[in-house]
Amino acid sequence: MMELEQLYQQVIMDHARTRHGAGELADFDGESFQVNPTCGDEVRLRVKLAYDHEPRVAALGWVGQGCSISQASLSLMHDLTAGHTLAEVEDLGELFREMMHSRGDFPDEKADALEDASALVGVAKYPARVKCALLGWMALRGAIAQALAQPTEES
Ligand code: ZN
Repeated sequence: MMELEQLYQQVIMDHARTRHGAGELADFDGESFQVNPTCGDEVRLRVKLAYDHEPRVAALGWVGQGCSISQASLSLMHDLTAGHTLAEVEDLGELFREMMHSRGDFPDEKADALEDASALVGVAKYPARVKCALLGWMALRGAIAQALAQPTEES
């Protein structure tokens, strides 16, 4: 169990450092700015949708600052959701929120669906940090909602 926790720590540290998806997306459909006042984390996330078969997340980019957990969670979320359909992204978001409210007791078969983002399961034991991990997911949901509210241009 200890080794697994160390592995999870490593995943979180790596993502906090490499920050996948970090950077401003110039071409986007929706945007959301979120802050976590209890920790000081903030993020501005932009999403570009594509409508080939089903609507999906074609690209997402974020500019943020804050604690390692918030930054790692954004990076992990980017890898987990980019390219997926909106229905899949919604399901993944629900699963992630469920994990973060599990207080660390989350079944493996569900954790597998979250891929590397399941490394954040340990954070669920610290209620004060849960909002750090959820910040990016709130921003993603907000940005998608804004994108869907835009009139689609048939040009
Ligand atoms: Zn934080």
